[in-house]
Amino acid sequence: TSLTTLPADQLAERLTALRADYEDLRAKSLKLDLTRGKPGADQLDLSEGLLGLPTSHKDRSGTDVRNYGGLEGLAEMREIFADLLGVDAGDVIAGGNSSLTMMYQVVTWLLSHGGPDSPRPWSQEETVKFVCPVPGYDRHFTMLAELGIEMVTVPMHEDGPDVAAVRALVADDAQVKGMWLVPTYANPTGAVTSTEVAAELMAMPTAAPDFRILWDNAYAVHHLTDVETKSADALGLASASGHPNRPIMFASTSKITFAGAGVAALAASTDNTAWYLKRLSYAAIGPDKVNQLRHVEFFGDADGVRAHMRKHRDLIAPKFSAVQDALGARLDGLGIATWSKPIGGYFVDLNVLDGTASRVVQLAKEAGIALTPAGSAFPHSNDPDDRNIRLAPTFPSLGEVETAMAGVAVCVELAAVESLAA
Ligand code: PLP
Repeated sequence: TSLTTLPADQLAERLTALRADYEDLRAKSLKLDLTRGKPGADQLDLSEGLLGLPTSHKDRSGTDVRNYGGLEGLAEMREIFADLLGVDAGDVIAGGNSSLTMMYQVVTWLLSHGGPDSPRPWSQEETVKFVCPVPGYDRHFTMLAELGIEMVTVPMHEDGPDVAAVRALVADDAQVKGMWLVPTYANPTGAVTSTEVAAELMAMPTAAPDFRILWDNAYAVHHLTDVETKSADALGLASASGHPNRPIMFASTSKITFAGAGVAALAASTDNTAWYLKRLSYAAIGPDKVNQLRHVEFFGDADGVRAHMRKHRDLIAPKFSAVQDALGARLDGLGIATWSKPIGGYFVDLNVLDGTASRVVQLAKEAGIALTPAGSAFPHSNDPDDRNIRLAPTFPSLGEVETAMAGVAVCVELAAVESLAA
């Protein structure tokens, strides 16, 4: 029965029982953390073989990878990314360890220099705005806040961002210069942007001639089931609709090999990659090609990556099931919470009773369970409904996820009943 329609006396009874459950939870003196989407140590162990590689000093073309040069990255590494991302190897740049850094470079260089099709550097506009599907990735939003870019939100649906809302924002306002999108297994909702939605985003008229969609495909190959969802063909759709420079795609092996020592990649039109390499040439002589060759030797090819991802899946899928089980066991049918059932990515997105997310996070904290601060999936950490909580179950052990999530479910119910009974 839904708690939202319980009469006052029954709510009061329930509150008393829940307070007792919560005291039992606190008595356990837990110390658990569901905050960051990091791979567990067992996942990192899958790539231990990297540490004995490369066996060769030379790439396919005979270049000594220990030396300077090769700004665009090793051809073999670019081919692997191209296969995984469904793009041409010639459109891929393989870089350092962080795709977030590549995104930051792109945004700062658009501000300082403008893109190949910009009338002037973005910093010379009175205001620069970005469309931000919410809930979204907190670091996308903090990056824009740091750089003084205004954020306008649109809802993220199961098939991608709300296209009508995006259209309305970009059609007449030339200050709207860009948009974030995590197209596959989005952080945090797990949504997959459909080809139809992607096609509309690539084709829609924009007042800004240099509008950019930062297509962050961080979870392109991070399947949690045997369904290996294919991402929409952003570059192909953009070219076909006459806007080849609109998307800039990013990815990395951060959650494939080592989160701190993987390889990142950018893929885009010829104009965009030439623009990026030109700017980069003032900042670097070449990427860490030793690490790239290590990855090439470790995987062999894109199928090697896919096989490796199935090993990750086998380690983390049980943790995602544990989240579903714990939430379902306590909260199903109560009418106070909904949550995503992702088939890929790193997160479960929990929506609690409006106005209670901060309270849930506080209750969990006092019971020794660290959750991502309420609102962090929104620009300026402002969730207007105070209902969204991002759960990240990969880093703790399975047992810890089970214990933590049973505790979180108690906190969700207690916060809801406190609010309803007030
Ligand atoms: N993009 C998204 C959507 C992420 O969730 C993350 C990490 O959580 C990153 C990018 C970070 O990528 P990288 O490690 O390549 O900098």
